[in-house]
Amino acid sequence: MTGLSPAARRLVDEAFADLGPMPIVDCHAHVVGLGSGGSGAAVKPSLLTWRHPVQRVKAGVFVRASGTGDFGSFDRDYVEKLVRQARDFGRPVKLHILAMDHRYRPDGSIDGEGPEFYVPNELVVRLAREYPDVFVPVISVHPDRPGALAELEKWAGQGVRYVKWLPNVQGMDPSDPRHDDFYRLMRKHGMILLSHTGDEKAAAPGANQALGNPLLVRRPLDLGVKVIMAHCASSGRSADLDHPGKKADNFELFLRMMAEHRYLGLLYADISAATLANRGSRTMLELIRRPELHGRLIQGSDYPLPAINCLIWMRPFVKAGMISKEERQALNEIYKSNPLLFDLVLKRTLRDPVTGERLPGGIFTADPGLSAPPAEASPASGSPAPAG
Ligand SMILES: [Zn+2]
Repeated sequence: MTGLSPAARRLVDEAFADLGPMPIVDCHAHVVGLGSGGSGAAVKPSLLTWRHPVQRVKAGVFVRASGTGDFGSFDRDYVEKLVRQARDFGRPVKLHILAMDHRYRPDGSIDGEGPEFYVPNELVVRLAREYPDVFVPVISVHPDRPGALAELEKWAGQGVRYVKWLPNVQGMDPSDPRHDDFYRLMRKHGMILLSHTGDEKAAAPGANQALGNPLLVRRPLDLGVKVIMAHCASSGRSADLDHPGKKADNFELFLRMMAEHRYLGLLYADISAATLANRGSRTMLELIRRPELHGRLIQGSDYPLPAINCLIWMRPFVKAGMISKEERQALNEIYKSNPLLFDLVLKRTLRDPVTGERLPGGIFTADPGLSAPPAEASPASGSPAPAG
């Protein structure tokens, strides 16, 4: 953080002031790679050819986010830039880095129309061993992949506690009873499911947005699995499965899920993407104004998205009175020096223009992996309760 002006420095200090001694936790950070240096990561070939200009530009944006613009050393550069930003906080930070499995068809074959990025479990586990001060591994196991249970068991045995799904793009339906054995094994090992909720626009030409419906995660919850709903489902609309024929904002369905008493101690949500340009100021203001949620919200940066300039737009926050023009200037300065730090400082600085309330510090050190599920959350029969 060397070279920050006093105003920017003060904003950083204020963001850290009431966080206490626990490490900062960011439960949602992506590593992406092209496979350089034998990382095992991959992107769809179409992303890298000029025959697909839009995707080529998207890849270019990611490469710039890695800091070097060089394909040949991309994977290593990306990781090192991320590590530098985390260590630059000057206090302990735990970044949960996410693997990304392929999309599988129900017959177990790989569906090439899945995620644009593939990130193997081996890579995130290896990086977490290489940088234990900053990284926590999050594996991604598609429940329809051949040997899914053995894969889950293997990493659980090595101490991995988190599993990431992106149903809209990976194609799993969290409510499918075929996954019950998968959920039972997760529960047995105390593993936590970080599942994307809401629409997905970042990595997804062929996305099935219906699979981002927040109501679908009732199935793992009813089997006693802890779930983190990524992004608080803050975009798009879905079928309201509790009221057939009706549709509802995914955010409304997220609030309904959080209000269900039986999911206390099991259901959490991350605030990644809540500050991105396509949300305006609405999502953050809603979250600040719902203190009943705060004990169950977790910081997530969705890195590298904060490092991609065109996705960050602070003017709506100034217009809404949630930050001052001076704060915006200081935040811009922090952004240029450290986009990961910027993401945290922005979320800590935003306030309700009426009451002055901000998101409490606990959100930025919360880790549901550190608390045991309450006894009453255990399913009585082992079979899910009926929906609704
Ligand atoms: Zn993400």
